[in-house]
Amino acid sequence: MNYDAIVLGGGAPGEHCAARLAEGGLRVAIVERERVGGECSYWACIPSKTLLRPGQALAAARRAPGAAQAVTGEIDVAAVLAWRDFMVSGYDDSGAAAWAAGEGIDVIRGHGRLAGPGRVAVGDEVHTAAHVVLATGSEPFVPPVPGLRELPGVWGSRETTSMSAVPRHLIVLGGGAVGVEMAQAVTRLGGTATVVEGMDHLLPREPRPLGDALGTAFAAEGIGLVLGEMASRARLDGDEYVLEFAGREPLRGDRLLVATGRRPRVGDVGLETLGIEQLRVDSRMNAGSGLWAVGDVMTPFPLTHVGKYQARIAASNILGRPRHADYSAVPRVMFTDPEAAAVGDAEGPVVVTVPLSGVARTATYTRSYATEPGFLTLVSDGERLTGAYGLGPEAGEWLQQATLAIRARVPLDVLDDVIQPFPTFSEAFLHALLELRTELGRPRSRAGSGPLGSQGAQSPGEELALDGVPGQRQRLAVGQPGLRHAAEPAEEVRPGG
Ligand SMILES: Cc1cc2nc3c(=O)[nH]c(=O)nc-3n(C[C@H](O)[C@H](O)[C@H](O)COP(=O)(O)OP(=O)(O)OC[C@H]3O[C@@H](n4cnc5c(N)ncnc54)[C@H](O)[C@@H]3O)c2cc1C
Repeated sequence: MNYDAIVLGGGAPGEHCAARLAEGGLRVAIVERERVGGECSYWACIPSKTLLRPGQALAAARRAPGAAQAVTGEIDVAAVLAWRDFMVSGYDDSGAAAWAAGEGIDVIRGHGRLAGPGRVAVGDEVHTAAHVVLATGSEPFVPPVPGLRELPGVWGSRETTSMSAVPRHLIVLGGGAVGVEMAQAVTRLGGTATVVEGMDHLLPREPRPLGDALGTAFAAEGIGLVLGEMASRARLDGDEYVLEFAGREPLRGDRLLVATGRRPRVGDVGLETLGIEQLRVDSRMNAGSGLWAVGDVMTPFPLTHVGKYQARIAASNILGRPRHADYSAVPRVMFTDPEAAAVGDAEGPVVVTVPLSGVARTATYTRSYATEPGFLTLVSDGERLTGAYGLGPEAGEWLQQATLAIRARVPLDVLDDVIQPFPTFSEAFLHALLELRTELGRPRSRAGSGPLGSQGAQSPGEELALDGVPGQRQRLAVGQPGLRHAAEPAEEVRPGG
């Protein structure tokens, strides 16, 4: 069959690209060897977030006086797993296939292979197209820990998100997003977990304060942490997995999850038939004449939303509308409790941090952030935001205004002039921008609105005085009749402290 475009791999980015191309009037096919919807729909984003949600809802209720008294039982694990099964459509992709048919997209079932320029072989058939989009995703990487690759029954993310029973003790090798999310999911579903990370903080690809603070929260919850240690050997002792280390006691668990990253799935896709040794793309997602690549197979950020962004870039270029990928503001969210989120740079000329406990919304959720880690950090080049990261309830939602600010290159003065609704977590931006201004030695002008918005009782003069006093910051005082904003000496701001 001849098409305008063939998308090789029907994960979320592949589907997204196919849909855009079909909307643009092209005749499109997706080649999929497993399930349309890919990893995200059945074994990654959707089931992992579904498994996390009940524990988070329960913890939120337990932190809220009044609601806490209503929570008397334990989590119903069978109900959680049934909900997970519902969310992954019982691992059945007929709904996704019907969606594709509705969009006018052909789904060709089977393993696809490039077979020269503009040619894709699926079984005995060869299909042709002016454009081929490679969207074959990634596969788990198992590190060369002696004994590990030979061990039977070791879990990857698939086995974990599709669990049919909660492990008594899950050893998690790898403290990245998948590792921390799954460790907390298991813990909150009634098991226990220990996370092993070779770096000396969780979330090794994210700013250190984020990983440090999440580690503090995890330790308080009883999640075991082995940081800065490399496993030296893995073995089975009866039914137990044993992970050994050179410098500490071994870990034992009834399950072992290897969550040490993924690598592009480029084996057996026929790149050699196009003379390509190493897959590379330009900023249009073009990998050569008529070949495009999107998603985990070719990305600095193996995330669904990044893959879908790349899909829109590739589709636009294929449809003749030139567009280039920009990775200056890529949001990353770790859906733990507290939630961790980051966007853009981790470092820059000016970095400021404010605690979330200074934001009124936090106290309406829970008093626990007075002692638990929660913060917003802004990174700036002095003119604009270049990065931001934060930890706290729904951090992935409220950090998005930093994503927009970075991507749109919003000047700090304009950001300073943004009205943040009271009481929301977004007010942390007011506090952090005030800190940023102080760091930059630029006191607010009288024309600016008060950093505490409509509730701020200070005159501009008071603000200027505060700006000039090291160690002083605007804080919100709670616990007295009513809620007031006060200026008081702040404790040293340390994420995690
Ligand atoms: C546990 C876990 C949780 C995650 N949570 C999140 C999250 O919350 N948010 C987020 O943004 N990202 C998350 N991710 C990452 C996200 O799952 C991936 O970035 C995303 O699935 C990548 O999509 P993809 O289409 O590139 O790859 P895939 O989803 O793997 O899709 C590739 C498809 O191609 C098919 N295929 C491969 N080779 C061939 C071939 N030769 N012929 C035919 N078909 C082929 C495969 O069967 C597959 O369906 C998570 C990942 C994991 C492991």
